[in-house]
Amino acid sequence: MTAQILDGKATAKEIRDEIADEVRRWVDRGGAKPCLTAVLVGDDPASQVYVRNKHRACEQVGIAGKVERLPADATESQLLDLIGRLNADPTVHGILVQLPLPQRTDQAGDESAAIDTRRLLDAIDPAKDVDAFSPVNVGLISQERPRFLPCTPHGVIRLLARYRLPTAGRRVVVVGRSDIVGKPIAMMLAAKNGVCGPDYANATVTLAHSRSADLAEITRQADLLVAAVGRPEMIRGDWIKPGAVVIDVGINRVGDRLVGDVAFEEAAEVAAAITPVPGGVGPLTIAMLLKNTVAAASGS
Ligand code: NDP
Repeated sequence: MTAQILDGKATAKEIRDEIADEVRRWVDRGGAKPCLTAVLVGDDPASQVYVRNKHRACEQVGIAGKVERLPADATESQLLDLIGRLNADPTVHGILVQLPLPQRTDQAGDESAAIDTRRLLDAIDPAKDVDAFSPVNVGLISQERPRFLPCTPHGVIRLLARYRLPTAGRRVVVVGRSDIVGKPIAMMLAAKNGVCGPDYANATVTLAHSRSADLAEITRQADLLVAAVGRPEMIRGDWIKPGAVVIDVGINRVGDRLVGDVAFEEAAEVAAAITPVPGGVGPLTIAMLLKNTVAAASGS
């Protein structure tokens, strides 16, 4: 293996330490203890683990982490009521709805029994929308005057900055166009004034997806390749330009292993730098969620 490993775990620890300091100073000055409330619907084991990890991360930096649990058969109006109450509660600074919500149909197979995830996310007060999913917050990001930054893209850019891997003027390919990862990271890397300065923005960005023709041809042109697909090890070594930086956002369970969207061993022979899975982007996502929660509490 020749590639440098980009250590997301260590970077996230540094960021969490900074956040813990910031919280301490804020509370010492008489500020209210920041509070993040997660809404967890049903008993999906992966969602429970994610919420538990977020809760633990909150406690470690001095943020109050709360969880509102609702049964898998909770109705949309029950959920909207809960979000309304959290919006109105001045002791709650950040609200997140753990996704995905349980899939369901009624007894007649009518899918209208399902909860409209978009309507639920839209109901969160944008000032408490620490995942930065609301149309208001996405619009502010697109105009380069963000209130909150989406956690995974923000974490990726912080990682690039920590390892001094600038993107300005470089060719970036993002594979995957989800609202959570692909689209916002493409937007942030193409921006003029990046969150970590203009050197970590100003890229020439291609956003690829499942309908992109000749995907390997496209990825081979990337100085920086970001994979956010959700397909285990889909991106092979020969899809990567020699000397490229590879950011693997994917987290896929294969048997009892977690793997990314990139075939790590092959890619590490070609790339100059690469994130591992686990221990790459994942820990940064949670760290940036904490950062947004502190910003929501302190108005900073
Ligand atoms: P989504 O399923 O929402 O989006 C996947 C995207 O990949 C879509 O745009 C889809 O294209 C595209 N895609 C699917 N198959 C192909 C293909 N064969 N070729 C090219 N493009 C393809 O996923 P997310 O963005 O939510 O998540 C992506 C991965 O990142 C997952 O493994 C997820 O677990 C992980 N993740 C990790 C996080 C972290 O903290 N590290 C945070 C969030 C997600 P189309 O739009 O055409 O359907």
